[in-house]
Amino acid sequence: MNAVSPINTPWLSQLSTSSKFLIAGPCSAETKTQVLDIAHQLKAMEVKVMRAGIWKPRTRPGNFEGVGAIGLDWLQQAKKETGLKTAIEVANKTHVELALKADIDIFWVGARSAVSPFIVQEIADALRGTNKIVFVKNPVNPDLALWIGAIERFKQANINYLGAIHRGFSSYEKSLYRNNPEWQVAIDLKAAIPSLPLLVDPSHIAGKRNLLFDITQTAMNLNYDGMMIETHPTPTKAWSDADQQITPKQLSSLLKQLKYRVTDK
Ligand code: PEP
Ligand code: MN
Repeated sequence: MNAVSPINTPWLSQLSTSSKFLIAGPCSAETKTQVLDIAHQLKAMEVKVMRAGIWKPRTRPGNFEGVGAIGLDWLQQAKKETGLKTAIEVANKTHVELALKADIDIFWVGARSAVSPFIVQEIADALRGTNKIVFVKNPVNPDLALWIGAIERFKQANINYLGAIHRGFSSYEKSLYRNNPEWQVAIDLKAAIPSLPLLVDPSHIAGKRNLLFDITQTAMNLNYDGMMIETHPTPTKAWSDADQQITPKQLSSLLKQLKYRVTDK
């Protein structure tokens, strides 16, 4: 009999409703209403983990830089009302300390932080001794050793629930993508650390909605363990990354169309 390949990581499969792990939610927390609205919509479609950036690493100053610590209160309320696990990006020790107090469940290191061993070490040390789930996004440049090094710093800090997120790589040349996937880098990461769960972040690879499905499908063909997809109640009005976010309804239809790799059972 053919069956969809199961997630091999027990803690990840516990957080999944389908055969793949999913983190959905807005690029940025914007208002309390927006956070609670999206949380309830995601809950209704059986999503288990919600993301919302509250400190936003912007490439250039002057753009929306996140609502900051107040967003932690909104996420805590969303969690209380829906039971969803919450996920945010942390980029320094203070972020980690505030997020731990607010009972955030999942932490990720962004692409701009993953390039800096000092920052990665600071975040790893701040999370040492906790039972938290941590995902490390690839550094902005396609440097496999730097990505592996960042992951190793969390392993050395005894973070046991650890995974990687592939969000693509910047290039100077114009490209179809916001960040080129360079699939081989992620394939090589998986070969180097086979037990490490690997998610795709098609939103930041794509930069635009219409590419999301193909990127996610390619990752599923490569047997990735899951995905993080930016989902917003009104994507075109989003305060950050408006071109790449989708509505919960669009997410639902994307998920339905995906084909997962099967194994013989
Ligand atoms: C994000 O997830 O919103 C984000 C800023 O991602 P990245 O670090 O991949 O650019
Ligand atoms: Mn974003």
